[in-house]
Amino acid sequence: MTKYSREFLAKIPKTDLHVHLDGSIRIPTLIELAKAQKLKLPSYTEEGLRKTVFKDKYKNLLEYLHGFKYTSAVMSDRESIERISYEFAQDNFAEGVRYVEPRFAPQLHVTDDMSMDDVIVSVDRGLNKAKKEINSRKTIKNGIEPPFDYSIICCAMRMFTEGFSEYYKRYVGLHPHMPSYELFGLASLDLVETMIYVRDELGIAVSAFDLAGAESGYPAEDYKKAYELAHKNFFKKTVHAGEAYGPESIFQAITDCHADRIGHGTHIFDDTMVNLSDESERKLYVEELWQYVADSRITIEVCPTSNLQTMPKLSSVKKHPLGEMIDKRISLTFCTDNRLISNTTVTNEIALVVDNFEIKPKKLKDIIIYGFKRSFYFGGYLNKRRYVRQIIDYYEKIEKEFNVGK
Ligand SMILES: [Zn+2]
Repeated sequence: MTKYSREFLAKIPKTDLHVHLDGSIRIPTLIELAKAQKLKLPSYTEEGLRKTVFKDKYKNLLEYLHGFKYTSAVMSDRESIERISYEFAQDNFAEGVRYVEPRFAPQLHVTDDMSMDDVIVSVDRGLNKAKKEINSRKTIKNGIEPPFDYSIICCAMRMFTEGFSEYYKRYVGLHPHMPSYELFGLASLDLVETMIYVRDELGIAVSAFDLAGAESGYPAEDYKKAYELAHKNFFKKTVHAGEAYGPESIFQAITDCHADRIGHGTHIFDDTMVNLSDESERKLYVEELWQYVADSRITIEVCPTSNLQTMPKLSSVKKHPLGEMIDKRISLTFCTDNRLISNTTVTNEIALVVDNFEIKPKKLKDIIIYGFKRSFYFGGYLNKRRYVRQIIDYYEKIEKEFNVGK
């Protein structure tokens, strides 16, 4: 097994392309905001919250998702959202993440005083403040180190109930006779309209659309119109798929949602989950699916720790299909999913992978650089190419410094 030092993994320039902002809040900030907003927490100490809510191991997906109840609730005004976003960018940069794509569901945070537009603008304000501060460092300004950058992904929820937020409560109330699947589709369409406005009229760095939340029972076809609209407006598309449902969910993400990337994709090879009675047909379906994904360079956003925490069947990271994905030369990138809820960092995720799978220096470099290449970079294609070139040069400098790759 090729060994890499922790210092090396921390220093190389990294991306996080699948990370939920509301699942990545600093605990002291969460406590402070909850106190100020008079929101109840099960504990008001970091240790207490680690014991009761934000654990290293969870029983199942339900227990994993429980923490969002608190983190999402404190994102209820502009200042809190801006602060959370600012700290998020700083935490990423502190562990060598140079480019990040935080995602969140604006509709979860709408209040009487804060529209969807305001939520997105506040996130951008926090991220941009951190970006400016970071990029004013001498080593970045004079080109010795590559700059920090970000782009925003907005998530529609696959399903919601009145209890999800004030916005959803009103939405359900205003459409009492509409079947729920149509309502979910309609709300997702509203979000894309908002994304078009904030990008085109306000110049906010929103580059992609995502579908998050309960996967099983809520097929992607219900959100087809929203994805069509996003597609026609040149947004990039990613979809949470193949996490809690089988390969068919990934198929729908590609055929109904024009997915450029897939969130998780863990069950991509699991033919037993395909709804076809004939075994050879199931195997053929999976074979054709992964071949298509690989050949189209649809990138899988792999979140190892999160998968271990939400899939009780996955007893060890060694059994994670990421090994097979690498063997089959599928494009993939390592992500945290949630820095707080999964109690992890990008450096941790990469360390977990290289400690359990044989990944040679050239392969590791390819995977890390691919994160930058397959990012939904906001600043234009030619700038993106220059940025990636700068990242590769810097990565190779760090390799030399640590004597890696010889
Ligand atoms: Zn996710």
